[in-house]
Amino acid sequence: MAANKECTFIAIKPDDVQRGLIGDIIKRFEQKGFQLVAMECQQVSKEHLQQHYIDLKDRSFHNALVDYMNSGPVVAMVRQGLKGLNVVKTGRIMLGETNPVDSKPSTIKGDFCIQVGRNICPGSDSVESVEKPNALWFKDDEQV
Ligand code: UDP
Ligand code: MG
Repeated sequence: MAANKECTFIAIKPDDVQRGLIGDIIKRFEQKGFQLVAMECQQVSKEHLQQHYIDLKDRSFHNALVDYMNSGPVVAMVRQGLKGLNVVKTGRIMLGETNPVDSKPSTIKGDFCIQVGRNICPGSDSVESVEKPNALWFKDDEQV
């Protein structure tokens, strides 16, 4: 990653790939001005997902979450903006709250979903937590 850039990892979950929401979601980040660094539609293994959700391994929903994310292809992407423009924070605001019930209209979760277990888009929640998913999902030469 360029030193003067901040990256955020965003994904689109299997249901929403099947619902044909990829374009609507990508459009919001494009319109906002987040630059595309990497994007791929991937069928990911359970091992990969267990690694991705390692911080949640003791939560009651962990296995269901891994099974669900493994149930079909997901779209993973890395987006960036200049440091100081806070793309991680802005990305979380655009996504809405983890539970769609708490998400305001005009956010992605506020507009497209009603269930926490089917909440469309994960996104980095801190600048420090971006490197790990980016490295897990994309090789260096897949990030432009
Ligand atoms: N999740 C769930 N039940 C809960 C909390 C979370 O099924 O009570 C799922 C939900 O799909 C969420 C994912 O676990 O997107 C990861 O949780 P996290 O706390 O990291 O939320 P996020 O960062 O995706 O908003
Ligand atoms: Mg999270």
